[in-house]
Amino acid sequence: MSWEPLSDDQLEIRELVRTLARERIAPRAAEIDASHEFPWDVVQLYRDHEIFGLFFDEAHGGTGTGTLLSLIAIEEVSKVCATSGLILAVQELGSLGLKVAGTDEQKERYLPKLATGEWLAAYALTEAGSGSDSAAMRTTAGREGDEYVLDGSKRFITNASVASLYTVFAKTDPEAGHSGISAFVLESDTPGFEVARVEPKMGIAGSTTGELVFEGARIPATNRLGEEGEGFRIAMQILDRSRPGVAAQGLGIAQGATDYALEYARTRETMGKPIAEHQLIAGKLADMETRCEAARGLLYRFGRMVDEGADDVELTKASAMAKLFCTDTAMDVTTEAVQILGGYGYISEYPVERMMRDAKITQIYEGTNEIQRLVIAREMLKESRAFLLDGVA
Ligand SMILES: Cc1cc2nc3c(=O)[nH]c(=O)nc-3n(C[C@H](O)[C@H](O)[C@H](O)COP(=O)(O)OP(=O)(O)OC[C@H]3O[C@@H](n4cnc5c(N)ncnc54)[C@H](O)[C@@H]3O)c2cc1C
Repeated sequence: MSWEPLSDDQLEIRELVRTLARERIAPRAAEIDASHEFPWDVVQLYRDHEIFGLFFDEAHGGTGTGTLLSLIAIEEVSKVCATSGLILAVQELGSLGLKVAGTDEQKERYLPKLATGEWLAAYALTEAGSGSDSAAMRTTAGREGDEYVLDGSKRFITNASVASLYTVFAKTDPEAGHSGISAFVLESDTPGFEVARVEPKMGIAGSTTGELVFEGARIPATNRLGEEGEGFRIAMQILDRSRPGVAAQGLGIAQGATDYALEYARTRETMGKPIAEHQLIAGKLADMETRCEAARGLLYRFGRMVDEGADDVELTKASAMAKLFCTDTAMDVTTEAVQILGGYGYISEYPVERMMRDAKITQIYEGTNEIQRLVIAREMLKESRAFLLDGVA
């Protein structure tokens, strides 16, 4: 019996992504990290091989090959370069507003450009004063005739300055809390919109993380996603579907670090034998591998749930569990990989140092892992399991 969840066609696509990652992206990873430059050559590679298409339906110029395979693509690339894996994950994050709440006209206008990668996308929810508490946002969108006028700013936005399309959340009714938020798509050449700065940071160095400023930025009312006041619901619906992209990034980083540490431990000798044969190191390798495989189980289960048409309500907990476990695994496993390499692990010439820095952000963005734990517990509290306790004294 085969335990392989992918069909032959899907396996062929995985092989293509794996080969591109190993042969074309891996040799660039250290350079991307050191230069802090956005890797447009990797974007071009994805365009040339229709990799962005994995995230879109055939009707909109994509491959229609489903969520599981798209997560696997992020995982494969992130094994060698987390910045390059993030480019795929954020193309999905920035496009999901259109997918879940766009009209047919909006989808036809934008999704084909995103499916080819002609345009990159971004998702702008966070502000300087509101990250986990996103409903506390202060950016406003006032209606004037056939337009909305945006004023305010967003902070820490991935793909700032490289995206052509931003999914933006703003208050159309500042007094109404969650239900005063609306969602919009904004094109990067909109007057009154600018990227004020790009942040220096610990890891994922080739990815841009920036501050967006809106000063009387006018966007057509036809660019609103859903109805006025539905923005918060749309933002959360997007995150339920996008967080597994970060999970896939985390899992890729963890597996990449495990694979590297395994090869190192096979060849590095101390006290007359390879360190892999010292039981404390062997135990670390076994734990790293087991954690990756358990993380993969949660992630692929989420992919299959979406592909088999699970309801949105079922996805919330599965998505949060995949994000939590895959990204905590990324941090734990990369820390152990550095330990296995000893002093060399701490030196930039060896990739596990970069992997450990890259792993950290996966526990923070798209909802911190504290927030994921709150989400999981909240979903658990909705479940009734009292019958399991029948007869338990
Ligand atoms: C590199 C990078 C890229 C990013 N990309 C994007 C992007 O593309 N789009 C976007 O919109 N945002 C993006 N973000 C923002 C990111 O999602 C937020 O930073 C994150 O959600 C946390 O928000 P915060 O920074 O305001 O921290 P805070 O919300 O201030 O949290 C601070 C700490 O308190 C904890 N905490 C907060 N509330 C609770 C609670 N109720 N219970 C327990 N603990 C709690 C948090 O877990 C955290 O540990 C990015 C951030 C970074 C650093």
